[in-house]
Amino acid sequence: MSNGQKGIEPTTKQVIPQATHKRCYRHIFNNLKGKFSGLKMKRAFWSTTKAYIVKDFNIAMGQMLELSSEAHSWLSKFPIEIWARHTFDHRVKSEHVANNMVESFNNWIGNVRGKLILTLLENIILKLMNKLHKRFEEAASWQSLVTPSIKKKLDEVILQSRLCRVTFAGQKEYQVVEGVVSYIVNLQRMSCCCKIWDISGVPCKHAKACITHKRMNLETYCDTMY
Ligand SMILES: [Zn+2]
Repeated sequence: MSNGQKGIEPTTKQVIPQATHKRCYRHIFNNLKGKFSGLKMKRAFWSTTKAYIVKDFNIAMGQMLELSSEAHSWLSKFPIEIWARHTFDHRVKSEHVANNMVESFNNWIGNVRGKLILTLLENIILKLMNKLHKRFEEAASWQSLVTPSIKKKLDEVILQSRLCRVTFAGQKEYQVVEGVVSYIVNLQRMSCCCKIWDISGVPCKHAKACITHKRMNLETYCDTMY
């Protein structure tokens, strides 16, 4: 994920052709803000970039069009696969739309950033070795199968899933009704049509309802990366 610096996107495509590329939404937003300001515009833009499914994305884009057709066409010039969450590569299991973690990496490597490439890499390797060892020691004391931040997320999902009603639909599929809306969950493919599970790798409330229905452990349905 970059801030769209010249040269990075075409170069990444050349060097790592299988990787997908994202653009930090905050960076796009700051450019948008300079041209079209207002709180409503800010909210509409957030809704477009953070939507998990195309339907919600289209609704938010519609709101933006109502606010300003100029802002709508300005934003439409950016390829949506780099900034709109609903288009993100499902293999990546990252729902991040901002590159805060890149900024903190830059802080973490500190003043070695300006060093020559071999010295820079040597320093990064040493720092990583220390960090991995510290994390390994920390992780050995965890009670859960997943990281503490994901455990916290799962606790929220458990609360949110209370109103979901589950019906078995055959094979590994379930139909989950929440209010007046139905969702299809496939436990084998680790997928729900709300797309939160597919994009983030963490089960959504609908999936959680099915996993509990099956009396399985919710943590084992998180992506292995967690
Ligand atoms: Zn879902």
